Amino acid sequence: MTKTLHRFFIHPTALCEDRVLISNRDQVHQMTRVLRVKEGDKFIGLIGNGKEYEIEVMEISKKEIVGRVELERECQGELPIVMRVFQGLPKQLSKFEEVLKHGTELGATEFYPLITANCEAQEIRKRERMEHILKESAEQSERGRIPVLGPEINFTDVLDGGWPTGLEAEVTLFAYAREDSVLLSEVLADMGSPKSVNIVVGPEGGFTDEEVAAAHKQKWTVFGLGPRILRTETAGPAILSALLLGSFSSLK
Ligand code: SAM
Repeated sequence: MTKTLHRFFIHPTALCEDRVLISNRDQVHQMTRVLRVKEGDKFIGLIGNGKEYEIEVMEISKKEIVGRVELERECQGELPIVMRVFQGLPKQLSKFEEVLKHGTELGATEFYPLITANCEAQEIRKRERMEHILKESAEQSERGRIPVLGPEINFTDVLDGGWPTGLEAEVTLFAYAREDSVLLSEVLADMGSPKSVNIVVGPEGGFTDEEVAAAHKQKWTVFGLGPRILRTETAGPAILSALLLGSFSSLK
């Protein structure tokens, strides 16, 4: 059986032609002390360009690891579509972290904290911790890129003026817990194969009537997931799974 190699995102400047020099203290510590990587071992290095590099460790010192690229190939873990999650910011940061973790495993490419009328929190703290979660989830799920954690987005601005430049999508899926006439399964059956999808999920308190009316006015796809109410941190991953296993199941 082939041994599964450890995977690490390394800084792009650590790679120069077929030479690799890792000098980030935390990464050297994790590789040598925690994972006990030794000279002669191989690992997969990722620099976020959608490729993966099989690297042999040549030298290890306290401060750095020197390696050589043996193989370069396209990473299989990326979908050829943009899937953005606009998550109504929950009161507890741990719920937002759940969305980042599971959303990354399910192929989301970008995450934005969405500040809606019913949000108690107005900004995310501990961004560095969130970036770390994204990186670890991307490594664990064998992604070739670390998803982007974007800035807080004020929902009123989007409802008034549409998505900010660069964040427009072919389809916007607006998850409304009280929608019982249009279900996601029907939406997906008719959706075709868009190249970009924005997914909008409300916070714990859901969306206001005004927000739902404005979403209809924007001509977004307002849908329900059936008669069970999901927690805010469950809804985004549930929608991503449905996309992955339904509409995008033919994509590798
Ligand atoms: N308090 C809201 C209510 O009673 O209508 C429920 C909010 S729910 C906990 C949080 C968010 O998850 C919702 O705003 C929606 O975006 C999404 N969600 C949860 N269950 C859903 C469902 N059955 N259909 C569509 N979206 C759902």
